[in-house]
Amino acid sequence: MKKLFVVAIASFLFSCGSKKESSNTENPIASKDVAFDAFKDRFMEELWKMYPGWATGSGYHKYDSVLIIPDDTYRTKELAFVKQYIDSLAGFEDASLNENNKTDKALILSTLNSTPWAINKFKSFEWDPSQYNIGGAVSEILDNKKETLENKIRTVIQKIGKLEAYYAAAKSNIKNPTKEHTELAILQLKGTVGFFETSVTDSINKGKFGAHEQDKYNADLKVAISHINGFIAHLEGILKNNQANRSFRIGKELYAEKFSSDIQSTYSADEIYQKALKRKEEILKDMSVLTKKLWPKYMKNAVMPANENEAIKALIGEIAKTHVSREKFQTEIERQIPILTKFVKDKNLLYMDPSKPLVVRKEPEWMAGVAGASISAPGPYDKEGDTFYNVGSLAAYSPEDAESFLKEYNKYILQILNIHEAIPGHYAQLVYKNQSPSIVKAIFGNGAMIEGWAVYTEKMMLEEGWDKNTELNGTAEQDEMWLMYNKWHMRVVCNTILDYSIHNLNMSKEEGLNLLMNEAFQEKAEAEGKWKRATLTQVQLCSYFTGFTEIYDFREELKKQQGKNFDLKKFHEKFLSYGSAPVTEIKKLMK
Ligand code: ZN
Repeated sequence: MKKLFVVAIASFLFSCGSKKESSNTENPIASKDVAFDAFKDRFMEELWKMYPGWATGSGYHKYDSVLIIPDDTYRTKELAFVKQYIDSLAGFEDASLNENNKTDKALILSTLNSTPWAINKFKSFEWDPSQYNIGGAVSEILDNKKETLENKIRTVIQKIGKLEAYYAAAKSNIKNPTKEHTELAILQLKGTVGFFETSVTDSINKGKFGAHEQDKYNADLKVAISHINGFIAHLEGILKNNQANRSFRIGKELYAEKFSSDIQSTYSADEIYQKALKRKEEILKDMSVLTKKLWPKYMKNAVMPANENEAIKALIGEIAKTHVSREKFQTEIERQIPILTKFVKDKNLLYMDPSKPLVVRKEPEWMAGVAGASISAPGPYDKEGDTFYNVGSLAAYSPEDAESFLKEYNKYILQILNIHEAIPGHYAQLVYKNQSPSIVKAIFGNGAMIEGWAVYTEKMMLEEGWDKNTELNGTAEQDEMWLMYNKWHMRVVCNTILDYSIHNLNMSKEEGLNLLMNEAFQEKAEAEGKWKRATLTQVQLCSYFTGFTEIYDFREELKKQQGKNFDLKKFHEKFLSYGSAPVTEIKKLMK
């Protein structure tokens, strides 16, 4: 969901720090804030020139036609850009800025500071070929509702016209990639080829062009597809010749650095790992109590195993058999959304803007391969755009794999998934983010805050009575709901343990699957999918538990302070009003 700060553009650099700032002398603080606001405008414009793909994804369409050639020349420009703006920011002392701008400054700085590390040390452009895929950008250009189809096609044609140089640079960048990222790249690039051959071709043929122009665009598209296929063949060659040998494990040093730069928590990676281990034991205790209570209802006369984990696993396996059919997976999600929305309104938990509809759709081809369900929302420049709830298709699953997937997303977990992804989780947060007065906060989203919020809402909804709600299924099954919630929450805890252990402690696949299936009670398909994801990403899987812990603890602290004056709805709305700033920054602003 988070746009990578890697995709890019050639550009000229402006000198910002030297420009004369506001001359308001009556209030020195206000004058610095006025100057900082102007600085932000200039910075954002230059940022979008540097990263046009990111701009497109954020709904800023001015540079849609630009395709960055990701070579050394570009990376040198990127480093100069970063240095220049870090220097400019040094001209704004924290004490001279209001709270809002202080946070914006911190967000810009932390993003800029992580870039030299990403280019000079992390170097994913050498070992992760999946970043060379413009399917997402082209799709976002075509989804732009403010432009005519004909102009959008012209823009796409300009962009894909540079694919030959783009893939030449990509080929020369790739040095000993990981096998896992190479396989992912091939899968997703084939998705992009499919998308170009069907949807993009249809769009060209639907456009009102002269016959000659239309033929030319179709021919240009064919050439572009041939370049993508050329890159796919190159990657297949790398696999065939055993040239993809880099380990997907990034190791202790890079991991600690990436954790600190991506998560921006008050905790270190090691501390969060220890907290997760402790939390795992607490959840197991709760689950054990619920299992003893529910055992007779589901297991009848079967003897309960003496081993607690085995008993929990057996009971969960039985309860998980209650799930929708694969054909109804998407329609059941569609059915639940309005009921969740009504609950949030009735319980006074959060104002939800009724004019922003959530569209449930089948996951687009270029997205395939990483997660089962996700939200994509319009960027902050595109407030009228649709928010999509992307649902992975089960069509390609074997009957066994489909059953395993559906048991994982059973009757109870599917509700928690919808709370997390949609209402009042990611979807609600994204709507608020886009209303945030600061474009900087809307753009430089902190992953731990975003995931932490979604995870926080799961527990909050149950605490506020979703576990007793009968509107969805006619009856309420509180114990089942909490047992499954614990199982789901265990997943977040084990995400952290898994990710940390894979990259720092050399955890094997067998150990990983054992953790997920026997201690986190996951089905095989889910565990395999999570293992795959942890080999393709680093640190991101820790963001859920870290963010949740910080938000939940902060709320409890405020409750204690404010006593009966504490207002949950106000807390939620205020918390979300700062955009996706790191929780540590939001805490400072809310105190
Ligand atoms: Zn999430």
